[in-house]
Amino acid sequence: MENKGTIKDFNNPNLIHRLPAGMLKGDFSTELFSDRSTKKVYAVTNGTTVSFDEIDPVLRAQVFERLLKDEKALESLKHLNQKEATEHYAFCVFGAADSTADFCADGILQEADNFICSDNCICLHWNSKKMKIDGEVLTPRQLEVARLLATDLCDKQIADQLNISLSTLDTHKKNLFEKCNVSSKTGLAIKLIDNKIIQ
Ligand SMILES: [Zn+2]
Repeated sequence: MENKGTIKDFNNPNLIHRLPAGMLKGDFSTELFSDRSTKKVYAVTNGTTVSFDEIDPVLRAQVFERLLKDEKALESLKHLNQKEATEHYAFCVFGAADSTADFCADGILQEADNFICSDNCICLHWNSKKMKIDGEVLTPRQLEVARLLATDLCDKQIADQLNISLSTLDTHKKNLFEKCNVSSKTGLAIKLIDNKIIQ
């Protein structure tokens, strides 16, 4: 007889907590992750965590190359030296400890993480930072509205905070619900959590 309980539930991807890449011995992919309180970046590979300074220089150089291709990020970080700028860029763009490796096992840097480093960070305007919900890119403004809609604030308070009218907020809401394929604020909040935009 088909088991309709635990096995089916366990197959629900939303219920599976995947380990960060590189966390287990024998996993030679590398995951970068950030400590938001110190803005330090670490890397874990083959079950061992090292600081950003200790990462294989070949990997670190790829992060710097990615930074060089992003004019807006370069402009934001130009007051820092190369080492500091590279770590700051890694903090903002590759900071999530997620199950999709930042460097695959052959050492090639992958796409940016869906990661909010802090509230209203300048990095949300960088070219290499693309916050996505189920593959759809959100603009920085949409992101701001979406994150507020996922709080306990009522619409009037959100509209006031964004300095927009209730009807403008309604338009934002309609567009966001459509983009995220949800029909309520709760549905939107769940999508934001699933896509690691809020935690
Ligand atoms: Zn940032």
